[in-house]
Amino acid sequence: MFSAFDNAIKQLDQVVPLLEREYTNKKKLKQAINFLKKPQNFYKKNISIKLDNGKNKVFKAFRSQYNDARGPFKGGIRFHPNVSEDEMKALSFWMSVKCAVVDIPYGGSKGGVVVDPSVLSERELRQLSVKYAEFVTPFIGPWIDVPAPDVNTNGQIMAWMLESYEKKIGMHAPATFTGKPIALGGSQGREEATGQGGVYVLEQYLRTKKLKNERTTVAVQGFGNVGFWFAKFAKDAGFKVVAISDSSGAIYDRKGLNVDRLAALKEKYGSFSGASRGEKLEFVKSEDIFALDVDVFVPAALENAITKENAGKIKAKVVLEMANGPVTPEAEAILIEKGIDDIPDVLANAGGVTVSYFEWAQNLGGYYWTKEEVNKKLKPIMVSAFGDIQKTQKEKKVSYRKAAYFLAVKRIIDAMILRGRV
Ligand code: NAD
Repeated sequence: MFSAFDNAIKQLDQVVPLLEREYTNKKKLKQAINFLKKPQNFYKKNISIKLDNGKNKVFKAFRSQYNDARGPFKGGIRFHPNVSEDEMKALSFWMSVKCAVVDIPYGGSKGGVVVDPSVLSERELRQLSVKYAEFVTPFIGPWIDVPAPDVNTNGQIMAWMLESYEKKIGMHAPATFTGKPIALGGSQGREEATGQGGVYVLEQYLRTKKLKNERTTVAVQGFGNVGFWFAKFAKDAGFKVVAISDSSGAIYDRKGLNVDRLAALKEKYGSFSGASRGEKLEFVKSEDIFALDVDVFVPAALENAITKENAGKIKAKVVLEMANGPVTPEAEAILIEKGIDDIPDVLANAGGVTVSYFEWAQNLGGYYWTKEEVNKKLKPIMVSAFGDIQKTQKEKKVSYRKAAYFLAVKRIIDAMILRGRV
C-alpha cells in the first residue's frame, strides 16, 4: 500500500551519503538520522460533536509534531476524508524540511481530522474546530507548536480555534495560530505570499540562466489561491504567461494572457471550459497543457500531477513546483533525464510559511507591518534560500530537491547536536 511517510523516509535516506561527508562524528549522525525517522510527538483522539439532527458523530483527529530542534513546531490543520496517521507524519516531516530550507526558526508539524467538511453545516464545522482546538490546547502555543490553515481549513476556522484556545488559557495569545483574519492579527500579504515567493524563486533561477523575464513563457496548472497569485505576479514581473488551467481545461494565448480578465471570466462562467464557450478564447484540454511549448511549467493545483505517464511530454526547461508534491519520484527521474530542472516544493512554495512566520513575529511584537514591508522582507528570504540551494546543487552535482533536503536536514541535525540531543 502507498505510504507517504515511507516516501518521506526514503527522501531522508537519500541524503545520508551526502551528510556522511559533513560530520566526523558518524555515531552522532547515525543517532540523529534515526531520531529523524519518526515524529517527536504524535497525538490522536476521537472527537465527538453533536450534529444538527441531534445525533453524535465521532471523528478521528491527529497532531504530528516532527522535530523542534530549530524552534517551535509549525504546521497546518487539514480537514479531509483521506487524512491518516501516515499522511500526518509525512506532512509534518516535510514541514520541518520546508522551514529549514528557508531558514526560519521553526520545526515542523501537521494536524488533521478525518472528515468531509462539505457535508457539515456551519454550526457543525465550528463545533468540530472548537473540539479540535480543545484537543490540541495542552500541546500548542506560540513557543510550542503553531498551527495554521491547510486543505479545507481557513481564516474563519483559525478564528474559532483561537477563541477556544484563548478562553482555556485565560489570555490573548494570537501568535498561537497563523493564517488568521487580519482583524484578529493576521498578516498583510499572507494570501498572496505563496505565489509571490514562487515568482521571486523563478526570477533568481532565470537570472542564473541569463534568461530575461520578458522572453520567458510560462504555463500554470491550477487557478486557485496559489495559481492565481503566481500567474498575476509573474505577469507583473514581465513574464509571458501563455496558458493557465483549472480542472476543466486550459486557456492559451501565445501572446500572453490577461490574468485579471481570466479571473473575472472564471467568476462569471464558473470554469475555463464555460468561459471558452461564452467568449473568444483558445481552449486546450487539461492533459494537453503538459505538452505546450513553454519555458516554464508550473504545477500549482494538486499532488501527483506530473507522473511517469505525462512527464515525457513536458517541453519546458524548468518545472517550478508550486503545489505540494506535484511531481512523483518516477516523474522527477524522467525530467532530470531530459535535462529539465525541477525546483522542489519545499523551496518554491515556502513563501506561504515564511509570511506565516512574519504573522507570528508581528503577533509576538504586537506591532503590525504594511503589505510593502511584508514583501520587502519576503524577497531576501526566498532569494537567499534559492542561492543556498543552487550553490549546493552545483557543488554536490545533485538535483535541486536533493540539495534542498541535504541543506535542510543538515540544519536540523546541527541544531540537534548543539542542543546535545544526540
Ligand atoms: P485551491 O483549492 O485554492 O486551488 C486549487 C486549484 O486547482 C483550483 O483552481 C482547481 O480548479 C485546480 N485544479 C484541480 N484539479 C486540476 C487539474 N486537474 N488541472 C488543473 N487545475 C486543477 O488550492 P491552493 O491553496 O491554490 O493550493 C494549491 C496547491 O498548493 C496545493 O498542493 C497546496 O497544498 C499547495 N500550497 C498552498 C499554499 C497556500 O498558501 N495556499 C502554500 C503552500 C502550498
